[in-house]
Amino acid sequence: MTAPSPHRVIIVGGGFAGLSAARALRKAPVRVTLIDRRNFHLFQPLLYQVATGGLSPANIASPLRAILKRQKNVNVVMEEVVEFDVAGREVVLRDGVRIPYDSLIVAAGARYNYFGHPEWEQFAPPLKTVEDATTIRGRILTAFEEAEREADPALRKAWLTFVIIGAGPTGVELAGALAEISRHTLAREFRHVNPADATILLVEAGPRVLAAYPQSLIDKAQRTLQRIGVTVRTATKVTNVEPHQVTVDAGQGVEVIPARTILWTAGVQATPLAGLLARAADAETDRIGRIIVQPDLTIAGHPEIFVLGDMAHCKGKDGNPLPGIAPVANQQGTYAGKLIHKRLLGRTVGPFKYFDKGTMATIGRAAAVVDLGWLRIGGYLAWLMWLFIHLMYLVRFENRLLVFLQWAYNYFTFNRSARLITHPNDDR
Ligand SMILES: Cc1cc2nc3c(=O)[nH]c(=O)nc-3n(C[C@H](O)[C@H](O)[C@H](O)COP(=O)(O)OP(=O)(O)OC[C@H]3O[C@@H](n4cnc5c(N)ncnc54)[C@H](O)[C@@H]3O)c2cc1C
Repeated sequence: MTAPSPHRVIIVGGGFAGLSAARALRKAPVRVTLIDRRNFHLFQPLLYQVATGGLSPANIASPLRAILKRQKNVNVVMEEVVEFDVAGREVVLRDGVRIPYDSLIVAAGARYNYFGHPEWEQFAPPLKTVEDATTIRGRILTAFEEAEREADPALRKAWLTFVIIGAGPTGVELAGALAEISRHTLAREFRHVNPADATILLVEAGPRVLAAYPQSLIDKAQRTLQRIGVTVRTATKVTNVEPHQVTVDAGQGVEVIPARTILWTAGVQATPLAGLLARAADAETDRIGRIIVQPDLTIAGHPEIFVLGDMAHCKGKDGNPLPGIAPVANQQGTYAGKLIHKRLLGRTVGPFKYFDKGTMATIGRAAAVVDLGWLRIGGYLAWLMWLFIHLMYLVRFENRLLVFLQWAYNYFTFNRSARLITHPNDDR
């Protein structure tokens, strides 16, 4: 007699949610197939440091195989998922291979939302992948190089104007890092321009930066941004993005801002995979394409399909959808893994409950805001907390050590050693 084959779990996406789910299944009698189109897990919260030359891509990415090498019940497959056969319980890969499952966990993340203007993306790149980060790094550093060689004052000013669209945590962090580069890192390196003359504009359509934070921290963040040289333009809507200029409208007529470096950090939407799954499983989606999940993170009518992380619209205690942040994805992954394990033991667990540990964002060198609910602080102490938490959450010890050493070096020398232009700006 042959032994019954173990329960087959497919996890699509080796990001925060997918990886946490795989780890939560380590003691379960299952065979897990983790599918990701990349061979690495990326710590997106530190991508802006790659984009601004503070860290190298390898510092914030770890091979999925290395992370999971001791977990014998996981098989990693590097390929893109392009289709779901929900009735036949199979996932279809780009190369046509079909992989069967008993339970399916889909956690393929999100992408940026250009609010109906996909054509803006080529002029205002997003920050989502390693390639995005190295492209942005190339554009920023090329801008200073071009300004150095430019004789025309108007063009030089355009090269030294950096517009960041969207003042959420990523926009604020990028703007702060750019201010640090121009005011400290590049000081004395150029002969014909002063990098400190750079204009760094942080444009936000809403009335405030860091909209999700309490007003006291927003005020602190705004003051810090101004002090370090970032010009904040809130209540200012971007109406057009063209090769070398941004058009904005702050309610008093349109204004055209010539700028050679325009970066996009505004709004997110679900990946196309969410739409594919929604159609295949007849699932409901929200305004930005996320799949609306049940309290146990499954799709209505499909207890075998879980949707997690940035792809999922999951209601929090207050009835609003939970934010697209790493702790939500991590906790959902752990929950889904445990639920599958418990089901196999003939038990169940209650609905998913998010434990909110708080939020934090850096604002350049030695400044941050931290909102833990019971503690709201800004400044140096907040920055130390930010450093510590981000180090702890990096996936492997090796990366933690390397990032710690790199940060210590950068802090004391004002340097950023990963200042390589690996993607030249062909748009010059
Ligand atoms: C620049 C930036 C800064 C951020 N800063 C913070 C922060 O400071 N704090 C915080 O909490 N959160 C932050 N976030 C948000 C956080 O990174 C996300 O909420 C989190 O990554 C979501 O996890 P996830 O597992 O849902 O998706 P992801 O981590 O995005 O993982 C999705 C995975 O799916 C894979 N994938 C996608 N499509 C397919 C496919 N078709 N086939 C196979 N694989 C596929 C991708 O390669 C990826 O590995 C930031 C995000 C960005 C972009």
